[in-house]
Amino acid sequence: MGRLWKNIDEDILTENDLMSLAKCHNVVVFRKERFKKYDTITFRCSQYRRFTKCQYQVKAKVFHDGIYQTFCSQHHEHESFENSIVPVEVRSVIRDLALNGLNVGQIRKKMEMLHPVISLL
Ligand SMILES: [Zn+2]
Repeated sequence: MGRLWKNIDEDILTENDLMSLAKCHNVVVFRKERFKKYDTITFRCSQYRRFTKCQYQVKAKVFHDGIYQTFCSQHHEHESFENSIVPVEVRSVIRDLALNGLNVGQIRKKMEMLHPVISLL
């Protein structure tokens, strides 16, 4: 299945711009390819090892005349608590909160209050 790429509306003029864009999109370099008219740099989620389901990618086309075009695909998926390092008893608290209709943001806030040491990201 092909990915849908959305244009990222940012002015990228240098490799530095590209790297700070990657940082703020939370991605790291995954693959570089060369084509006739441009090179592409594909980035993937910087936490893909932890969030193996996360499909988020950013792609940059670097034309040989120095023009950058950037695209992103999918969204970060970090909501799965299943393969995180959160202890079982905390997970059951999270599940109870979820059953009470709290959304992820509210749960996160609550967990920060209850367990300030644990970061759910
Ligand atoms: Zn991600």
